[in-house]
Amino acid sequence: MKERNLPFGKPMVGPDEIGAVEKVLAQPKLVHGQRTAEFEVAFARFVGTTQAVAVSSCTAGLHLSLWASGIERGHEVVVPAMTHVATAHAVELCGAKPLFADVDPVTGNITAETVEAAVTTATSAILPVHYLGLACEMETIGKTAAAHGCTIIEDCALAVGAEFDKRKTGNLGTAGCFSFYPVKHMTTIEGGMITLNDDGLADSIRRKRAFGYDNQPSKRRQPGIYDIVDLGMNYRMNEVEAAIGLVQLERVESFIQARKRNYYGLRKRLEGIEGIRLLADQSGLSTSSYYCMNVVLTAGISRQVVTEELARRGIGYSIHYPKAVPLTSYYREKYGYEKGDFPVSEELAERSISLPVGPHLDEDDMRYLGDNVEGALIAART
Ligand SMILES: *Cc1c(COP(=O)(O)O)cnc(C)c1O
Repeated sequence: MKERNLPFGKPMVGPDEIGAVEKVLAQPKLVHGQRTAEFEVAFARFVGTTQAVAVSSCTAGLHLSLWASGIERGHEVVVPAMTHVATAHAVELCGAKPLFADVDPVTGNITAETVEAAVTTATSAILPVHYLGLACEMETIGKTAAAHGCTIIEDCALAVGAEFDKRKTGNLGTAGCFSFYPVKHMTTIEGGMITLNDDGLADSIRRKRAFGYDNQPSKRRQPGIYDIVDLGMNYRMNEVEAAIGLVQLERVESFIQARKRNYYGLRKRLEGIEGIRLLADQSGLSTSSYYCMNVVLTAGISRQVVTEELARRGIGYSIHYPKAVPLTSYYREKYGYEKGDFPVSEELAERSISLPVGPHLDEDDMRYLGDNVEGALIAART
């Protein structure tokens, strides 16, 4: 039965990445170097922003973006109830309060309506997450943000290359944060990037990224002499990560094309199959980066049985995400949320399965996936 082994995600690193790493390790500059600066310039060009700041993770990027934007105790930030917990944690780390917005059942994204239902007069920022790579409807969300005087920080962790109205994600708000964790669209092992068009905010983010130094080491007139002008963390990216990122960025368009080919190959096969519905591949002016194929099981079909069947057939999968964030123990105990408060997010948490479409797989793998997903659904019904 187990004819194949198709993992959900697999980092696409090869000889070029290994060569780039060896070059870095053969010289003494492992941080504060040229590769990080080059990676920032190249990534900003890819997204279309004037600035990019490399960081140690997307979580660090979200925290820095909110922190440098002045989000602090007493502030509120709207975040989706259906997201990676990092989105909400970044708000908590600033001492601010996350306000959870439910998501649209067709796209998995927050909308102007769901934001409107969550926002209050004390809200300072909105943190849209481009869910599984599909860009949010940024025009209407932007209008809602403007009406409430809110800054927009985008969570682009799964949205490398996705667009709204022909503009790339990461260039649709005050700042956008990307993740280079191993199974995202491209990897630096751990790592992230903040993209933005505001030089002053970029300076502030750079200071907070490295202890609040007045000057980065390369700009110091006398080595070792510096002043501290701000509170800061160590959220830097190192030169090994940046060297891998530069190679990956050159390959990322081909990764996205392979995902798109796989996505539509699988989608065609799954459309119309009984027992599931598929999240939207596009919506209005929003396009996707095709992170995965998310299928939502019809009520009554056991996800436990389906996933066991998939595993038996050698098919890797992921769950996005196992709980609506406000219903995880930390947020439930702190703010008193209850089951039923975020019905759509809860439906996705309980009934959806994410299937692989990554560039490590080919069209024939998609046929195998389609046949075996259908088989798993039949097995779960009988
Ligand atoms: C992966 C992910 C993050 C966290 O990224 P890290 O680089 O691991 O910190 C945040 N938000 C979303 C939507 C993600 O998928």
